[in-house]
Amino acid sequence: MTSTARETYDVAVIGGGPAGATVATLLAESGRRVVVFEKHRHPRFHIGESLLPKNLPILERLGVAEEIRAISMYKPGAEFISPDHEARQAFYFGEALDPRPDHAYQVERARFDEILLRNAREKGVEVREDCAVTAVAFEDGGCRLTVKGQEDGEPCRARFLVDASGRDGVVARQSGGRRRDRNHNSAAMFAHFQGVAPEAWSKQGNIAIYMFEHGWIWMIPLQGGLTSVGAVCMPDYLKTRKGSLDAFFLETLALCPKASAALREAKATTPVRGAGNYSYRAERAYGDGFLLVGDAYVFIDPIFSSGVFLAMSGAESAAAAIDQALADPRKAERLFRGYQRWIDRGVDRLSWFIYRFNTPAMRNLFMAPRNVLGVRNAVVSLLAGDICRSGGFSWRLSVFKAIYFVSLLIDFRSNRLWRGRWRGFRSVSMPEDEVAGAS
Ligand SMILES: Cc1cc2nc3c(=O)[nH]c(=O)nc-3n(C[C@H](O)[C@H](O)[C@H](O)COP(=O)(O)OP(=O)(O)OC[C@H]3O[C@@H](n4cnc5c(N)ncnc54)[C@H](O)[C@@H]3O)c2cc1C
Repeated sequence: MTSTARETYDVAVIGGGPAGATVATLLAESGRRVVVFEKHRHPRFHIGESLLPKNLPILERLGVAEEIRAISMYKPGAEFISPDHEARQAFYFGEALDPRPDHAYQVERARFDEILLRNAREKGVEVREDCAVTAVAFEDGGCRLTVKGQEDGEPCRARFLVDASGRDGVVARQSGGRRRDRNHNSAAMFAHFQGVAPEAWSKQGNIAIYMFEHGWIWMIPLQGGLTSVGAVCMPDYLKTRKGSLDAFFLETLALCPKASAALREAKATTPVRGAGNYSYRAERAYGDGFLLVGDAYVFIDPIFSSGVFLAMSGAESAAAAIDQALADPRKAERLFRGYQRWIDRGVDRLSWFIYRFNTPAMRNLFMAPRNVLGVRNAVVSLLAGDICRSGGFSWRLSVFKAIYFVSLLIDFRSNRLWRGRWRGFRSVSMPEDEVAGAS
């Protein structure tokens, strides 16, 4: 069914990524009239390919679990490789406090996102691709969107707005309410490769994280022999870039001998892309008549592969809150505050680890973890995306933190130096979302 542009929807969603497709599908299933505007046409390239086990129940709920399984690489765990430690350290999801599911997937995002958005359409969402929202105005009883690319050129009206526009963050940028995370200033370069040697991983399907002097490198195996390879680097190192993005990426990989050994025969199959300045949070996750989901609200360093999970689980809670708020607007403030508190709690828990990940103390703990009082199981739960669980999770993480602080004191000076390297500069020189060779 196509609607005239003057019709008012219950909910308009900006962005057809995992967050937008999830929130739209669930609201349509609750009987709401929903429209999604997506500035590109799927399938389109996107980074963020390694999922977490706690993503899988959401895929079931959306009714796409089988379809996604068919395009995925089975991911049993995550392994870490350090220049200062002989042996790799692998964490398997079956060791989590709640080991169900005991695996996740690695997916090509072009195919993954296309399935989610097509499913939204099949569940009754009106999806308009090649339509970019360029302005948003809030007025009595709803919002009005200006959309570039719509055939009729009419603004769209809706009772409620969800901003799921990812790193573009349409609403937060329009209101100036986005704060860069000064504790963790970095940028990434990445591409797909064919021909990465199997020795890159100790077990097929794992994500491999190679730590090196200037940050860390990921190797994510995908279907068809493809591997996603990327480097997340500290700002002082990124400032040394002189030449093209392609050349700088290859030079960077060569600085990590264990990773470059696995890449000796590999060839890039996509252009090298870059994403700069990328940890931030909006001032608030909601306001009068709108709510932010996924990267439109908050983005943290992807070392624990948490982005798609946070986007989709946040979208799930957002859909429940919006549905109830539309039914009884007096409850909106309480519901949306609960939504924001839930996301902030998970993000803060993950950020504590991310800020410290490159310190020698944290690397030592990760590379030689002992399961004192089940602490290792709690860390695996965190890696699986079980970030807000109760039942012995919080106190075990507190024990881990206490062990970390004791290790920190042993070599305080060098640990402080490493944390400082992630802060240091006001901004990272790599332009956001740069593609090598693009004009
Ligand atoms: C280098 C890097 C590596 C990462 N690795 C991982 C990983 O391994 N695992 C993981 O889980 N996460 C990873 N992430 C994070 C992951 O990419 C995101 O968290 C995830 O894609 C968020 O989903 P989203 O739906 O919020 O946003 P997106 O997936 O970005 O979707 C937003 C959509 O909105 C559309 N849009 C934007 N502006 C407009 C507009 N004005 N009008 C209409 N449409 C618009 C965009 O075209 C896009 O399709 C990584 C991120 C980066 C930068």
